[in-house]
Amino acid sequence: MPKKLSANMLYNYVKCPHRLTLDLFGDYSKQDPISVFVKLLWEKGTDFEKQVIKGLEIPFLDLRSYSGIEKEKRTKEAINDGVELIYSGRIIAGNLIGEPDLLRRDGDGYISGDIKSGSGLEGENDLSEGKPKLHYTVQLALYTDILERLGISAGRNPFIWDIHGREIEYDLNSPQSTRNSKSWWSKYKSCLEEVSKIANHDLKTLPAYSGICKLCHWRTYCLRCLRKANDLTLIPELGRSKRDVMINHLGSVAELAQANLNQFQKGGKTIFPRVGRDTLEKFQKRAILLSKSGSKPYLKGQITLPDAPTELFFDIETPTNKTYQQTGNTPLSALSDLSIYRYINNGYEKLANVELKAHNPATKNISKDIEKIVREKKNGNWFHVLKNINKGTLTSVFDKFIFSLKEHSNKDSDISILFCICILEKKWGMIKHFKYDSSLGKGLPDFTEEFFCLSKISNSNNIRDKNVLKQKDILKNNDWTIIEP
Ligand code: SF4
Repeated sequence: MPKKLSANMLYNYVKCPHRLTLDLFGDYSKQDPISVFVKLLWEKGTDFEKQVIKGLEIPFLDLRSYSGIEKEKRTKEAINDGVELIYSGRIIAGNLIGEPDLLRRDGDGYISGDIKSGSGLEGENDLSEGKPKLHYTVQLALYTDILERLGISAGRNPFIWDIHGREIEYDLNSPQSTRNSKSWWSKYKSCLEEVSKIANHDLKTLPAYSGICKLCHWRTYCLRCLRKANDLTLIPELGRSKRDVMINHLGSVAELAQANLNQFQKGGKTIFPRVGRDTLEKFQKRAILLSKSGSKPYLKGQITLPDAPTELFFDIETPTNKTYQQTGNTPLSALSDLSIYRYINNGYEKLANVELKAHNPATKNISKDIEKIVREKKNGNWFHVLKNINKGTLTSVFDKFIFSLKEHSNKDSDISILFCICILEKKWGMIKHFKYDSSLGKGLPDFTEEFFCLSKISNSNNIRDKNVLKQKDILKNNDWTIIEP
């Protein structure tokens, strides 16, 4: 009987087509054990989902405790009864099967949604609003497809409830980007077709070494195959798509190392789509390094390091000294975004931990990073970027700082954090050193509220409900350094 195609299969396919092949037909005895890190990610996802569901303030039907046919039957009944919100249902149509986290009634039909412990969009930054993630899109599209086939779809606009507490609509009929006018729905359809071919043995896949392999339970097995084939994807930055356009001409790292690249030249370009001559030469140099025994890293240019009276060193994503129970059940070492060190007595001494933040995140996201700064007992630097502000933005962010600082300080802790906040569109920034010394007798709640100009005692020094210009003046009068061009 042909296999039913699931959202999980689509997810795996977009991450790596070969993963789908191996999961369906591979020798399970060759799988690696699931890594502790992957387990941690699962735990994080499950905890987040539980937290979201626990916090729901609207009635819903919980089908989490059912599985298989019983789950499907109860989902059908709930849909027939017009239940507003169904959590953890199961829907089937033809050869498609889906278990969306949420099915929400919309008019006479339903739309599906998933709860994700990551951001609902990718590429979000100060210049871009971000776009749907393909691996979320294909899952939501499959649920929507099933709802359409069942005749109960309320539209191609499923949603994600993401880690930032947002509901993000995925408009499946919209183009994938300004450069690619094909809709997300057509992308889903082509992925579904490929998944179907793989499941029916009509499409062969190859492993390709990439960052995703580090989290995959086929890593050892694939790496052995890739090394045996001396596959081009062993060359850094040469991934599946480039390998696939080159493989008919260059079958291995050794072949690329020895090749005369002129044969691939066609006018100003190479015969390989999206691989220019410079890139090909770079890959060949890497292939030569990989093919020669005893190869070492080499300098491509002279580096002159200047003499400086003070030399500081930095490291990113540095493990904390203390353990934290921010997700899951086990306290674990966390990561600081950046740490600054000095070199002294033949060793590196950590001087400060830096946390980087953007926009106006949920309190819990601010709180977990404030906790790290406070409990590590090092100088901290909080560097926060805001795209723009209105009269409510600073008070909202500052309230979260105040809450977090109160939550994580204890009576005798001294705290040192340099707060730096940049407001991009306003083109100004502000800096002030939060230096709390418990021996000076002032309670932390009062100190913190005064620091952020939100003390209830003095309205003239309180930024709440004032316009942005007035807020700027108040901050300046309360020792915030305002930085302007
Ligand atoms: S190890 Fe890499 S190539 Fe192999 S299945 Fe996993 S992700 Fe794909």
